[in-house]
Amino acid sequence: MMLFELEAALEFSNDIEGQKGEIEEVLVNADKELFKRGAPKGKENEASQLRGWSVKGRVLNVSIVSGRYVRAPDALLRLRNQLNLLGTKIKAGIRKVEIKKLEVKGVELGREPKQPIKIAFYVDKIEVKGDKADIKFSPSLTVDVIEGGGVDRIIELVVEKAERQEYEGKAEIKKLLWESKTKEMLFDKDPSSELEGINWIRRTHAKGQFVYGRNFTSLVNALREILVEELYKPLGFREMIFPKFEPWDVPKKSGHAKSIYPDAYYVMVPKVSSPKEWEETMDYFRITGEIHKESIMRKVEPVGILSYAQCPPFWQFLEGRVVKGESLPLKVYDWSGPTYRNEAGGTHGIARVEEFHRAETLFIGSPEEVIKIEKEVEEKLTFILDELLDLEVRKYSVIPWWMSQEGEKKLSDKANEGVGTVDFEAYLPYRGEREKSEWLEIQNISVIGEKYPKAFSVKSSRGELWSGCGGGSFERWICTFLAQKGFDKEKWPAEVVKRVKIEDEVKFA
Ligand code: ATP
Ligand code: ZN
Ligand code: MG
Repeated sequence: MMLFELEAALEFSNDIEGQKGEIEEVLVNADKELFKRGAPKGKENEASQLRGWSVKGRVLNVSIVSGRYVRAPDALLRLRNQLNLLGTKIKAGIRKVEIKKLEVKGVELGREPKQPIKIAFYVDKIEVKGDKADIKFSPSLTVDVIEGGGVDRIIELVVEKAERQEYEGKAEIKKLLWESKTKEMLFDKDPSSELEGINWIRRTHAKGQFVYGRNFTSLVNALREILVEELYKPLGFREMIFPKFEPWDVPKKSGHAKSIYPDAYYVMVPKVSSPKEWEETMDYFRITGEIHKESIMRKVEPVGILSYAQCPPFWQFLEGRVVKGESLPLKVYDWSGPTYRNEAGGTHGIARVEEFHRAETLFIGSPEEVIKIEKEVEEKLTFILDELLDLEVRKYSVIPWWMSQEGEKKLSDKANEGVGTVDFEAYLPYRGEREKSEWLEIQNISVIGEKYPKAFSVKSSRGELWSGCGGGSFERWICTFLAQKGFDKEKWPAEVVKRVKIEDEVKFA
């Protein structure tokens, strides 16, 4: 059973030693009624109890214990409000509430964690005993944090961290759904080095970024045309332009704010923009030819991140509104710019870059509509990859991207209702034999369910609202295409040949 122990000091604006009688009356009543209000019938003994109190000068010290109903921290908030109502009678109001001690004992973790669990804020110590934990909060815990629901969130986070340990290190759970026929491979080298060798692409000063030349861009445009003609047009999708900068509100709502930090590209803007404020930074460059990063960091503030998953910023378009039934299902795609990731594990040619270009497919409607559209998009993608581009690919059911991006490794409980992700993986002959080498994820498509409409407060005038989306980068599609088909245009599929213009690239002396 979960047990809360709390000690707090409530500091009044005046000496209250003469008002002990009035205060005692409030405390006794609170213990009888206020501390039990809302607890289920028969469970009042698991609600809060006043264990002791004392008054000294302007300070009232209280000690409260509880089980899981009307927890001690909530009882303290109720008591504070009640005491403030005494204000005029005792000619003193509460100025400050200090949490002297808060401990929660016996938090059920559901498993025995293998490693210690740590939380950097408001917590001194987490002691694990078997599958239970005792949390000792630190003196930095304030009533504001309690009022904002922080104690409950800390308990949840401890449980979640224990759960996550169990899935960490375990291989991703994935299930083969379909595979194309074995195809003839026309190339066995890494196309990225080849592309650099013939100057179709050129590395920049940034990690995992390229300038893409005219032939490469012509290939990108061929793919774009194929997608528009074979997928978007027939299924009734129309193009939109999604922002590529995400103010903090977007990752806060999408859930990326839970864990995105090691993988993000941050956006900073000047706190003050008058040129005078920037004089030292300017002078430093004039004198040394170097950038004075420390002085920059002092003068900017992080306002958000560069687009990471591409679709989250879209949701600001519908945020807080009720979409009329006649506008649903909504089917759109975005191709308006790159997304960015700090690939901590390293980049590799065009197969893993940090600035990449994706067509994002997004659909919103009733659960039935979303499930149906996902199937249709999945079929078109399969047709394009397998038949039009003649690529050797496999489809897997995998951990949904939004879950792995939030650090979750467990297949969603919603899987049975149709929520989930399908990944397309492609064979790269330069990496070795089919069964021994790692294939490349080139595209995914998901039914996400109610997550995004809920997170951005979007409703439908006709009932439940779900969404789904899919993304794949041109870097990975083209990497696969060239890795399997090589550079001899004569041997490329007709659908590509008729759309590309390959000419001599720039030659360097
Ligand atoms: P991986 O496990 O290979 O890193 P991921 O799970 O991070 O892939 P998602 O987050 O599902 O990929 O992103 C969707 C799509 O975006 C991928 O199918 C792929 O086409 C593309 N993509 C993701 N990361 C990169 C990258 N670093 N370079 C190029 N394309 C990428
Ligand atoms: Zn998406
Ligand atoms: Mg990745």
